[in-house]
Amino acid sequence: MNREYYGKLIFELSRPGRVGYGLPGRQVPESGALPEGLLREQPLRLPEVDEPSVVRHYTNVSTNNFGVDTGFYPLGSCTMKYNPKINEQMSAMPRMSGMHPATPDYASQGALEAYYTLQKLLAEIGGMSEFTLNPFAGAHGELTGLMVIRAYHQSRGDYGRTKVIVPDSAHGTNPASAAVAGLKVVEVKSNPDGTVDVDALRPLLDDTVAAVMMTNPNTLGIFEKHVPEIAEMVHAAGALLYYDGANLNPMLGMARPGDMGFDVMHINLHKTFSTPHGGGGPGSGPVGVRAGLEKFLPEPRVKKTDAGEYILTGDADSLGSVSATLGNFGVQLKALSYILSLGSEGLKEAGKLATLNANYVKESLRDMYLLPIEGVCKHEFVFDGLIDKSTGVTTLDVAKRLLDYGYHAPTIYFPLLFHESLMIEPTETESKDTLDSFIDVMHRIAKEAKTDPEMVKSAPHNTPISRPDDTQAALRPLTTYADICDEGL
Ligand SMILES: *Cc1c(COP(=O)(O)O)cnc(C)c1O
Repeated sequence: MNREYYGKLIFELSRPGRVGYGLPGRQVPESGALPEGLLREQPLRLPEVDEPSVVRHYTNVSTNNFGVDTGFYPLGSCTMKYNPKINEQMSAMPRMSGMHPATPDYASQGALEAYYTLQKLLAEIGGMSEFTLNPFAGAHGELTGLMVIRAYHQSRGDYGRTKVIVPDSAHGTNPASAAVAGLKVVEVKSNPDGTVDVDALRPLLDDTVAAVMMTNPNTLGIFEKHVPEIAEMVHAAGALLYYDGANLNPMLGMARPGDMGFDVMHINLHKTFSTPHGGGGPGSGPVGVRAGLEKFLPEPRVKKTDAGEYILTGDADSLGSVSATLGNFGVQLKALSYILSLGSEGLKEAGKLATLNANYVKESLRDMYLLPIEGVCKHEFVFDGLIDKSTGVTTLDVAKRLLDYGYHAPTIYFPLLFHESLMIEPTETESKDTLDSFIDVMHRIAKEAKTDPEMVKSAPHNTPISRPDDTQAALRPLTTYADICDEGL
């Protein structure tokens, strides 16, 4: 990037009186002054910049962003896979993207068919009876799923089920969604091998439990082998089993949550089904249910009549609406395009490669990074920092140093089971060359930690800013020039 523009705000390029535009002279008579009360007290704080500077500034800023289209993005539990451009083209088609959300059924048959088809495909992939695509994200799907579960219990006159059991390895959204649903969260601990401790779970199950939430493979990337046994216990206690399918990647075409005994599940289309989601959106968290629970799903629902027409309907027992109309339609179209272009064989291949790539990286790095859980992982795995802790170089330092080498950092300090968690998910879309370069850099950093620990601890050295104060950046983000001026920076 050109140094003249590097790391500068457009306001810092501003020079009084400089303009990048020319307006034609007025061609209509002036019509009196605006009333006093409508006038600004101070002039607008706009930057005064010439046109080339504006173009160069924004073009340079656009390349400051890190995305899966610019480099390897091994962020665990996020599935930052490459998103084929055909999906973007499908969802950007003006006939789809330009449609008004309130278009009547008869005039939106194509869009409703797309929604309906994706619903059916996800039901097939998940082994569920029906899906709704309405929720906007994974966490929103969890909340919707828990509301379905509550509606189910209440429909049976059972109002005493106020608890949700969540494993200690769960994604933070699980307990959060349960709390938002007004349910009490009870944590169940994991075995040393990273799976749910069945003996710890058993005594927690009684008639106050609404649901048990599980992730499989769990957030450590470990496959939970005891699900059928757990499903039996949960059902015997009158509770339902919820599947967090945010990361369905390694399961595609291999195993189905419905067949394992799960009653309700969500899928993150923006992870497994190829929608770019860096920076927090847009997402889609479809929810699937087993036979018998369909009537509780949120409305509107898309159904197909015997005459082959697609209609929007609701059910008397529906929990109500959870989103504006039918959710994030653009994301749904990308997922549909992705599934149809890969086909069932292609999806299965994607899942297998995601697993192979994760195991390849794990086995290649375990000589220098501490692997707390042995065995074959699925799509992701967790290191507990460097093996050599004597250098004082932490997981945070390794992550920051990776930025200097042009990689996005893995997920760090999650899951909470280990002090120095470093969670890597390479995804299926990376070539062996990319994985080898990453492995090489991770080894290099581990060596630097021994030879020059201070340099690693002060990384990154090649980015516009080095180490912001994470807490302050989250609590008081300075997102406008006015914020920065107010802070006196
Ligand atoms: C990402 C993720 C979620 C949350 O999904 P959002 O779309 O970010 O709300 C839930 N569970 C797991 C296991 C995840 O990886």
